[in-house]
Amino acid sequence: MPEPFITSSLRPFGTSIFAVMTGLALEHNAVNLSQGSPDEDGPDFLKNAAARAMHEHPNQYAPFAGVPEFRDAISAWWAKPGGRRADPETEITVTAGCTEAIAAALLGLCEPGDEVILFEPFYDSYRAVIAMAHAVPRFVPLRLEGDGYVFDPDELRAAFTDKTRAIVVNSPHNPTGKIYTDDEMRLIADLCIEHGVTAITDEVYERLVYSADRGRPHRSLASYEGMADRTIAMSSLGKTFSMTGWKIGWTIAPPPLTAAVQAAHQFLIFTVARPLQYGAADAMRDPGCLAWVDNLRDTLRVRRDRLFEVLNHIGFRATLPDAGYFITADHTAVSSPRGIDDDVTLCQRMTTEAGVAAIPVSALCESPGAGRDLVRFSFCKSDPVLDEGIARLERWVEGV
Ligand code: GLN
Repeated sequence: MPEPFITSSLRPFGTSIFAVMTGLALEHNAVNLSQGSPDEDGPDFLKNAAARAMHEHPNQYAPFAGVPEFRDAISAWWAKPGGRRADPETEITVTAGCTEAIAAALLGLCEPGDEVILFEPFYDSYRAVIAMAHAVPRFVPLRLEGDGYVFDPDELRAAFTDKTRAIVVNSPHNPTGKIYTDDEMRLIADLCIEHGVTAITDEVYERLVYSADRGRPHRSLASYEGMADRTIAMSSLGKTFSMTGWKIGWTIAPPPLTAAVQAAHQFLIFTVARPLQYGAADAMRDPGCLAWVDNLRDTLRVRRDRLFEVLNHIGFRATLPDAGYFITADHTAVSSPRGIDDDVTLCQRMTTEAGVAAIPVSALCESPGAGRDLVRFSFCKSDPVLDEGIARLERWVEGV
């Protein structure tokens, strides 16, 4: 039961599914394939750079937009996917991960009653922040068609109204791993331009792209013609460098939109841990860091392929993700023989009986019934952990 003290706008959300499933995994000593949290730390060069920064720079508040060295590094880092060199002085804000960036953008932009479009399923914090902003969500479903997720262009068109303030575009997408196609991006861009809507893009899986060779590289929505002026692009360091605990992210947006982000950011957290910003700047300006990221991507691709194959082999109907940390799979063929007909029950029983935790996708949806047949597995785990998870799943499924 939620506490009666919790404000009515937040009461419906309860505890984030990532905390709930990780808690259940710990309680039952389960292999945690739920939360997208790597169990191998990122590179020493990043840790060393931050440790050095702690000794060489003041450990007092940084400017609220972030330290200039880091904003410079972000501008260079984003030039290719973003299609332009953003001005570090006026267009970049360092945030406490992308989650705070999303919050700052929505709280800085929305009037009560404004509408915000989300593709469903969506990362859970988007929906909660829309509630905090007293804005109204409009959902556009992503549906499985063939071997990938798509949306209906007419449903997207219909979601834009004269009240639409913003659309959140998360590509590469959590949980499906979808990279939006060029045509999809172009349509989103055209609708934003036609309706005067701001795009908020969560691009945290930008570098963990496995399908670039299949013609699906990551490209920011901000780089499409007409979008530079109306996009708040966001990313972070956590996924790219397996340092999710650093909580270092950023927004890139033209000055008037940056002003909206900063209007909220300065009062949400004011500023982000200073030594980590210098550490991140040092590491990201070193061209050698890209080799580390290439290696991580290759490692994750192998883990993705392995988990994908096993899931399909034991009866899940998994979709191969283009990018990111996760595989979503239809669980119905595994659930029905056990008398289970929804993702939440499946995830609970898989945790307690099989000793493997995953995320029920309905927790990332709001429309009735949405996500009920889907479960999300995380493969950003070490080989022994993944091996153990796979062995347990195989035993459980075969034991019916
Ligand atoms: N982004 C990660 C996920 O989707 C972790 C989220 C969290 O723990 N809040 O699993």
